[in-house]
Amino acid sequence: MEGLAHSNDLSEVIEADRAHMWHHLSQHKQYESIDPRIIVEGKGMRVWDATGKEHLDAVSGGVWTVNVGYGRESIANAVRDQLIKMNYFAHSAGSIPASMFSKRLISKMPGLSRVYYSNSGSEANEKVFKMVRQISHRHHGGRKSKILYRERDYHGTTITALSAGGQPQRVMQYGPLTPGFVEVPHCLEYRKQWDVENYGERAADAIEEVILREGPDTIGAICLEPVTAGGGVITPPIGYWERVQEICAKYNILIHIDEVVCGVGRTGVWFGYQNYGVKPDFVTMAKGVASGYAAISCTVTTEAVFDMFKDDPNDPMSYFRDISTFGGCTSGPAAALENMRIIEDEGLLDNTLTMGARVIDNLKALQDKHKVIGDVRGKGLFCGAELVSDRDTKEPADEKRVAAVVADCMQQGVIIGMTNRSLPGFNNTLCLSPALISKADDIDQITDAIDGALTRVFG
Ligand code: PLP
Repeated sequence: MEGLAHSNDLSEVIEADRAHMWHHLSQHKQYESIDPRIIVEGKGMRVWDATGKEHLDAVSGGVWTVNVGYGRESIANAVRDQLIKMNYFAHSAGSIPASMFSKRLISKMPGLSRVYYSNSGSEANEKVFKMVRQISHRHHGGRKSKILYRERDYHGTTITALSAGGQPQRVMQYGPLTPGFVEVPHCLEYRKQWDVENYGERAADAIEEVILREGPDTIGAICLEPVTAGGGVITPPIGYWERVQEICAKYNILIHIDEVVCGVGRTGVWFGYQNYGVKPDFVTMAKGVASGYAAISCTVTTEAVFDMFKDDPNDPMSYFRDISTFGGCTSGPAAALENMRIIEDEGLLDNTLTMGARVIDNLKALQDKHKVIGDVRGKGLFCGAELVSDRDTKEPADEKRVAAVVADCMQQGVIIGMTNRSLPGFNNTLCLSPALISKADDIDQITDAIDGALTRVFG
């Protein structure tokens, strides 16, 4: 693949970047000594930077997004055709792609029936928070307005989404936060907080303790990731979700599952919650919905929730008083429809299960070789390896050395991730989320790169 330098002046691009760009989640001092990396092209699982260097992308666009891989002409064409025919009309009116994608999406989500569109994961989650607050006002005299969230989970970047944020370093400089959000403990079995046999049930019971402390009548909903992503690829322990479901039913608390990362195939089923038999009241999704070919997010809910918003047609306050200018219009659902067709027609869910098992096998083999790997976990093509300096005490490996492993892989032309630098003391998990089109050779290349990097960094 040819580098950017062939069609543009690379030095001009870098100069413009240095002078005018403010990169996401980046410390800019580094760009005084190194050039910012500019990604110019992608095909399948691979991307090329402006110098022409090829990288195997093991994190699907950096943040677990490009599920069907790069360079999909059929998605680009679907978007192009839709934009030429009808690019935009406010979503109080309907559109062909939004109706048709909603129908297809709902066909994968038994028990749910309504789709509300917006543009990002944060926004989709905020829609739920607003719905829950409005339900509280209209149906519970304003009392059931609190929302529970979990330590280590992340639900987005806006101030209210951050108020539901269980990753302290992302939150601590942005207060005052939105009131009414209450934290419950995480459920990572590797780092047990209770010495019991049925860890899943015990971790869920910890949620009940918070509910009883706060008062069940004050809590409207709980917001959870099905598998925690940036907080350390935390797969729920056995029995956890069943117990969460029971507790929520007991106290009439709505279940909101944040599928922004797990949604649309990442764990080898359409949605992460479907691995655990949960019956959610709300499901939000964003990244994989259109694999990054368009900005789209969805808040999906039940007919029972929808009905709570249409109880009085003569009351101007009885409907959902919310709008999102670009939500669902029209390139997003056009891209999402084609994205879903590709996943189905190419059998990518099955491939995700097969390749996900290969990632775990390979990482476990590395665990036998490198004592720095304390725990290996994952679901489908969503996997993590937690690094520790001592297997007995589980002392987390030094964050700088974990970052050095990521940098070493990058040198080798393989892009991997690590916990979001947002959990003080626990930014020690290597994260892998390659595209659902991964082949055995790709997976082996990724884990071989990690093998080499661990040897060089940890000996
Ligand atoms: N929810 C989860 C689980 C996420 O990982 C993210 C982003 O990484 C978000 C929500 C926020 O999504 P966005 O960045 O599209 O607002």
